[in-house]
Amino acid sequence: MLSVPQTVKRAYKYRFYPTPEQARLLARTFGCVRLVWNKALAERNRRYKDEGVSTSYVDTAKWLTAWKQDPDLEFLREVSNVPLQQALRQQQVAFNNFFAKRARYPRFKSKHRSRASATFQNNAFSFRDGVLRLAKMDAPLDIRWSRPLPEGAQPSTVTVSRDAAGRWFVSILVEEKIAPLPPVDRSVGVDAGITALVTLSTGEKISNPRHERADRRKLAKAQRALARKQQGSANRAKARRKVARIYARIADRRRDFLHKVTTRLVRENQTLCIENLTARNMVRNHFLARAVSDAAWYEMRSMLTYKAAWYGRALVVVDRWFPSSKLCSAHGCGHIHEPIPLNVRSWTCPACGTVHDRDVNAARNILAAGLAER
Ligand SMILES: [Zn+2]
Repeated sequence: MLSVPQTVKRAYKYRFYPTPEQARLLARTFGCVRLVWNKALAERNRRYKDEGVSTSYVDTAKWLTAWKQDPDLEFLREVSNVPLQQALRQQQVAFNNFFAKRARYPRFKSKHRSRASATFQNNAFSFRDGVLRLAKMDAPLDIRWSRPLPEGAQPSTVTVSRDAAGRWFVSILVEEKIAPLPPVDRSVGVDAGITALVTLSTGEKISNPRHERADRRKLAKAQRALARKQQGSANRAKARRKVARIYARIADRRRDFLHKVTTRLVRENQTLCIENLTARNMVRNHFLARAVSDAAWYEMRSMLTYKAAWYGRALVVVDRWFPSSKLCSAHGCGHIHEPIPLNVRSWTCPACGTVHDRDVNAARNILAAGLAER
């Protein structure tokens, strides 16, 4: 385990309020980023299909230079070139991930379905005394500094985005020194659930925040209202924004909550054992509650991963085929029960007579399997 402070890259995200002029320029930049991404992807696909040639970032950067000379694509010159190149770099990373089987094939960006964003490297913005200016803009961004940037931080990258609810965000990437936490003598198994957010091997169940149920009801109602609106109508656009606003609020509150939970788990435990989510996704279903809890679990897992690395803790991901909920966790038993339907919350082991809470039993098994793997 590392015991010296490590330098990590950390993103700080804030809301900001653009002037009408900034909003126009940024919207145009997002449009150009999307267009460059899609054109490059189409050209990559075509070259591969017609000529059997693969494409590198350098190739795509040359295409971009040529596109900017094309009179039909003149508008590409009105925005900063940096986010356009950055989109091509991100596309290269997406392809690398695909070839390494870490991600699926890169997709075209749709105006409605993808998040609009543009990434500026430090040659395309200036940051001094808490004032951030982007290339081709006179006024600085009006940022709500909801928490301070670390003392003396020098941002390396700035990403501007607008969500479906029309809110603007700036994410500032800085290098930061993080000292590991003092070692502790505890380990925990974490089971992702539907009724509880997570269940711990200690028997504790951490529920979703209280407001989440009410928020989800509102979301479902807004989605039903949206479904009744006529395609292309003004009312439909309004209903869509409403859905997006509620969804954004759920996501924000959930993220705050997940930060609290994951920080606590990482502080309290030296080793954290979790289950590979894909095991739970074997059964596809489209219930909202399930979709939301899966999304929360993905987010939680990624937070646990980086926080464990920051603070010198071990995170063990237990194999996806492990029968965590069917195996009796009582010491020395090891009986494997027949499949237990999801609605059965507790069961009695026929071999040793122990009564198990389904989720606590699973969390205990995940802990044991994780510790055995170490
Ligand atoms: Zn048993």
